[in-house]
Amino acid sequence: MKSHVIVKTHELALKGKNRPWFMRHLVDNLRNATLGTGVSRVWQGHMLVGLTLEDESSWPEVRERVKECFGVAKFFKAYEVPVDLAKLKEVLPGLLADRNFQSFRISANRSDKRFPSTSEEMNRDLGSFVQELSGARVDLKNPELEVFLDVMSSGILLYFEEVKGHGGLPVGVSGHVMTMLSGGIDSPVAAWHLMKRGCRSSFTHFHSYPLVDRSSIEKAMELTEHLTQHQFFSRLYLAPLSEIQKQIIVSTPPAFRVILYRRFMVRITEILAQRQGAVAIVTGESCGQVSSQTLDNIAVIDAAADMPILRPLIGMNKEEIVEMSRKMGTFSVSIQPDQDCCSLFVPKHPQTHARLETVLKLEAALPVDELVEAAVAGTEVKEFATANTASYSGVQALECR
Ligand code: ATP
Ligand code: MG
Repeated sequence: MKSHVIVKTHELALKGKNRPWFMRHLVDNLRNATLGTGVSRVWQGHMLVGLTLEDESSWPEVRERVKECFGVAKFFKAYEVPVDLAKLKEVLPGLLADRNFQSFRISANRSDKRFPSTSEEMNRDLGSFVQELSGARVDLKNPELEVFLDVMSSGILLYFEEVKGHGGLPVGVSGHVMTMLSGGIDSPVAAWHLMKRGCRSSFTHFHSYPLVDRSSIEKAMELTEHLTQHQFFSRLYLAPLSEIQKQIIVSTPPAFRVILYRRFMVRITEILAQRQGAVAIVTGESCGQVSSQTLDNIAVIDAAADMPILRPLIGMNKEEIVEMSRKMGTFSVSIQPDQDCCSLFVPKHPQTHARLETVLKLEAALPVDELVEAAVAGTEVKEFATANTASYSGVQALECR
């Protein structure tokens, strides 16, 4: 008997003209996600994507990979039987043999309405069959086992439990963003949210090496590698900030330094983003979390870039962000100690309500364009691909999308 993984999306996202575009990305992404795991074919059905398993032993690994693919609302491992109720009754005893249940329900659905029995008739017919076979009772409200049947024109899919995915949109359908990735807890969570909405993300990390050690660089690399599982290929830009910081500390009062660092970061990120074809910058800022994240300071930082700066965590509490980070699996990396560039030469109580005129006056003492250009020129690029896509020629195609 053939087995498949059947993937369903949120139907709303599939409305209208966008459907083929959405489905094509989802099929491509699922193919990339499961390369080398024993999936022999990825195919598109009516409002679903199917992955045919070479053998059932690959299911646990395929399950983990499919779960992390954005655009997947839910999925299940399904057996395919011919479109024939008698055949279905032949295989059901074998499939139910090692399942323990006192109550059950049959939930049939006809994707192909030409099938002669209605869903209701199938539920009743197979319900009494399973009742006789197992001795369990029918419980429509709270069954211990639910047997799902989906009648398609090519076969009947039979499955027992659904696995929930993250939902959202397949990476690639919403364009490209550049996430400012610090090595802390928040920015990987911010990137995750945009990726979940269908954006491919590149990453920029600022470091003050050799003024400090390389620990923040190592963390940014580890975090990028982790996030790459959702998009299969990523670029991380490692941008040097130390020269800029050296000049800022000479001319700028301590309270304003973080704001100037941030404005330089944003300018550099914008140039790197444009080179990548990214159309927005993403940060992990949350309103009021620390002194540099007041609305006044955010406005002053925004004024350094023309590109939109997206802050998906702006309304979230720290505990909510931490919980997300744990679920995503980035928390343990994010909390490792590092030498963060932003903590260099800054006071305990930085300016919380900066005014743009003041900041512009302070910047007038600096060769801004020259410093930005030098940092861009000194930026190192690292590429990341998931193990299964590293050897895959589609990487080129992936990064272009
Ligand atoms: P995070 O946990 O993401 O480091 P945070 O709570 O420590 O955030 P800040 O240090 O104020 O907050 O940083 C706010 C945002 O600025 C970060 O989420 C990130 O997007 C960006 N950022 C800060 N430092 C860096 C850095 N060294 N490289 C790249 N981006 C940075
Ligand atoms: Mg930080």
